[in-house]
Amino acid sequence: MPATPRNRTVARLRPFASTIFAEMTALAVSQDAINLGQGFPDSDGPVSMLDTARQSIADGLNQYPPGPGMPVLRQAVAADRLARYGLDHEPDSEVLITVGATEAISAAILGLVEPGEEVVLIEPYYDSYAASVALAGAVRRSVPLARSGTDFVLDLDALRAAITPKTRMLVVNTPHNPTGTVFTSDEVGAIAEIACEHDLLVLSDEVYEHLVFDGRTHTALATLPGMYERTVSVSSAAKTFNVTGWKIGWACGPSELIDAVRAAKQYMSFVGGGPFQPAIAHALTHEQKWVKELRDSLQTKRDVLYAALVGAGLDVLSGGGTYYLCADITGIGEHDGIDFCRRLPQRIGVAAVPVSVFTDHPQQWNTLVRFAFCKRDHVLEEAGRRLRTLGASRS
Ligand SMILES: *Cc1c(COP(=O)(O)O)cnc(C)c1O
Repeated sequence: MPATPRNRTVARLRPFASTIFAEMTALAVSQDAINLGQGFPDSDGPVSMLDTARQSIADGLNQYPPGPGMPVLRQAVAADRLARYGLDHEPDSEVLITVGATEAISAAILGLVEPGEEVVLIEPYYDSYAASVALAGAVRRSVPLARSGTDFVLDLDALRAAITPKTRMLVVNTPHNPTGTVFTSDEVGAIAEIACEHDLLVLSDEVYEHLVFDGRTHTALATLPGMYERTVSVSSAAKTFNVTGWKIGWACGPSELIDAVRAAKQYMSFVGGGPFQPAIAHALTHEQKWVKELRDSLQTKRDVLYAALVGAGLDVLSGGGTYYLCADITGIGEHDGIDFCRRLPQRIGVAAVPVSVFTDHPQQWNTLVRFAFCKRDHVLEEAGRRLRTLGASRS
């Protein structure tokens, strides 16, 4: 054995070898801190959905499902998108079931972008986008969101400036992780215009499509003129039904785009989550009321965390959806979000993640920290008590 192990990871994956989530979760565990770093809920989804999954196993649905996903789930996804967005997907050719939204994202980029072509990301961005672009041998260009008061807004000039003749795809995520921003219908409309003008493909990550607060509405990009034919819409059961461990997602779009996503997906996992697929079909069809209650309870949790962060002396950005709020730490004399997050578990027993890890320009984002509020009320209240001691524990 050599004294210093060589790094055998291929060069294009080396920058993505470790994630801050693993580091912060390990810190949270070792300090017995409340983990507001990773965005997973700590309560279960609808009981009838859980029962359907158990029944599916008992009924013997334990072998490979069909490559594109079980018909019952593809039909339920299509019916749901027709009911909520008026989008009419043909379930056999325009809906593909994937191993979470994560696989849909990777497969869409691998199946639709040639090596050397460019993909535009809006930063901060969900970490799997950059890794998937790298896997595809493509080139990423990132466009920062702009701050306007306590909101984040899309910088349309910067977006236009990032597009070159080599740009093949634009990745859009609204409601947005990590900022919680929900793009307005004007912003979504402007994205659509730019995509049509430059003939871009769009990967629309809508995993938080249901989780929008204060009467906001989510605009699905594929509903806009000229967009259906160029958009792969991705969503998942994870954030809608509190089942991040089931890894059931889907990609929807015109058949020529979905064919490309399937071509990549079938050699990544082929299929996944057999007995969970009928359970998610059941939930999409019968548990929309549960989802609305989830949304309302998350809005209340957002308010609880917001008050606690303000009480801690932080400047909180306004979040309109998702599981997250972002706060600026300069108001309490801190300037380095990574260092702040590394010390936070020991200082007050709470873990969070620095927003800079979701960007290509860490120095521009280094004063922002993301906190997740998808936790049980008593957990969130205790986190709030601990956060409020932050002013007193300045170090
Ligand atoms: C959680 C999340 C995903 C991944 O969803 P899975 O279904 O768990 O793979 C994708 N995109 C965003 C923005 C997320 O927050």
